[in-house]
Amino acid sequence: MSAGQSSPTGPDLVQGISVDALADGQMLVGHVGQDAVLLARRGNEVFAIGATCSHYGGPLAEGLLVDDTVRCPWHHACFSLRTGEALHAPALSPVARWQVELRDGHIFVRDKQEVKEQPGSKTRAAHSESSPEKIVIVGGGAAGFAAAEKLRREQFQGRIVMLSNDDAAPVDRPNLSKDYLAGTAQDDWVPLRPDSFYRDSGIELELRTNVTGVDVRSREVVLADARRVPYDRLLLATGAEPVRLSIPGADLPHVRTLRSLADCRAIIERAKTARRAVVLGASFIGLEVAASLRAREIEVHVVAPEKRPMERILGPQMGDFVRALHEEHGVIFHLEDTASAVDGRTVKLKSGGTLDADLVVAGVGVRPRLALAEKAGLAIDRGVVVGHYLETSVPGIYAAGDIARWPDLHSGENIRVEHWVVAERQGQAAALSMLGSREPFAAVPFFWSQHYEVPINYVGHAEKWDDLTIDGDVASRDCVLNYKRNGRVLAVASIYRDIESLQAEVMMERGDCTALATAGSVA
Ligand SMILES: Cc1cc2nc3c(=O)[nH]c(=O)nc-3n(C[C@H](O)[C@H](O)[C@H](O)COP(=O)(O)OP(=O)(O)OC[C@H]3O[C@@H](n4cnc5c(N)ncnc54)[C@H](O)[C@@H]3O)c2cc1C
Repeated sequence: MSAGQSSPTGPDLVQGISVDALADGQMLVGHVGQDAVLLARRGNEVFAIGATCSHYGGPLAEGLLVDDTVRCPWHHACFSLRTGEALHAPALSPVARWQVELRDGHIFVRDKQEVKEQPGSKTRAAHSESSPEKIVIVGGGAAGFAAAEKLRREQFQGRIVMLSNDDAAPVDRPNLSKDYLAGTAQDDWVPLRPDSFYRDSGIELELRTNVTGVDVRSREVVLADARRVPYDRLLLATGAEPVRLSIPGADLPHVRTLRSLADCRAIIERAKTARRAVVLGASFIGLEVAASLRAREIEVHVVAPEKRPMERILGPQMGDFVRALHEEHGVIFHLEDTASAVDGRTVKLKSGGTLDADLVVAGVGVRPRLALAEKAGLAIDRGVVVGHYLETSVPGIYAAGDIARWPDLHSGENIRVEHWVVAERQGQAAALSMLGSREPFAAVPFFWSQHYEVPINYVGHAEKWDDLTIDGDVASRDCVLNYKRNGRVLAVASIYRDIESLQAEVMMERGDCTALATAGSVA
């Protein structure tokens, strides 16, 4: 998906429109000069903010009004209608705001406003009695970046040191299996922020820096070169790493995994001359890689042990749909099979077959990077155990993102997920906690996956369900799937039903998992 800004559409809002043209609870898009402006009405109040989501350019007017906010239909970012502030990741930048004047039964929009800081933010950071002086973040991914950015947005004046063993500054990782790998995204789409951002924001980003230990007594992290970096608060956001194959040939140069920008570039380099690729594993990443390689017109075979791709997470109907979708695009599946060996030219299958391959990508799952936390003696339970404020078992040390197992308020279970938006929102929540806030992490989990032109959105968390109901038709790409246990909706997957997906998120936030409402705004 790309930002689709073209010539302005809708009414010229400087000239004004009749108040009657905008009913209570409705939105419309007009323009002020060349800027597309979203006009939204709540009772007698009318708001005007930028019409395009600052994440991937989603059309906010097709999203959902919730109180005095609007949520983006594509990836559930949320903006304040009053200030334009980005309230929920994946949006990290505000949208513009305009003055609205109601006069003679008409609405006029003018005077673009600078975005204000979040109300109360300075106060919160400045007045917290135990405000830290130095915060160290281990990890330069979704959670680490979102935490650092949030700390500065909250006017934290102390030092922020971000240590990452990657050689690239934080990147838009989801793009690495999608547009960037497919060759349809430019290089400058990939960094979350330009290099100057870190300098200008006073975020001391140290790349190629491996943290090997945490000395919890002296409150220092230990680096591979034996340097010690003291902290007042520490955030561990070390993410996950791809599971490596343990079959003969797994370390050959044309056998790759995908996590970092460097991994992605190595695959692209191979893809330039490859004619046949084998993807091992029908995971989200594996299948997104398959789609991107098909976009490069490479023959793609997918080998996976399951009967249906994604059945365990999305159920059989969505599994069949995803398989059919990839087959329509020429992917050849070898299901209920695994690779037993790879050599320079072929992949041998357990079933006895052999596939030619000059590129092999293993997408057989990821493992949270827990070594640091384990060594430091933090409580571990298939992840780093954190409480409602994302603090670990050691006071002053927090964890967020793919490594964190947190008490999810919605399912009532301790869960760990590997979702981009969750990692960002946890990074932000951990930032607030480190500044002394006492707001529990309460976001409903959300992820999306993109296969060719088809996006799949998923809210909530259902590891197991006893009932799966479908509204619409999966094959027609127009559906909402409710995953229920004991009559309660735990998760909702959807294709091209963005409003229902957003409504499900709001209902879950409000603890109403039995009534998922019909389209419209949520007051
Ligand atoms: C190709 C790809 C596509 C994806 N697509 C989607 C998607 O479409 N939707 C979705 O919801 N999710 C997607 N995900 C998952 C999502 O990217 C992750 O959930 C998210 O990145 C997790 O954020 P994190 O901050 O926990 O970890 P990461 O983003 O992995 O960041 C971890 C950071 O820690 C650093 N690090 C680790 N150990 C150390 C150490 N010892 N010392 C110093 N630094 C260290 C790493 O270098 C890295 O910078 C995708 C993931 C991949 C790989």
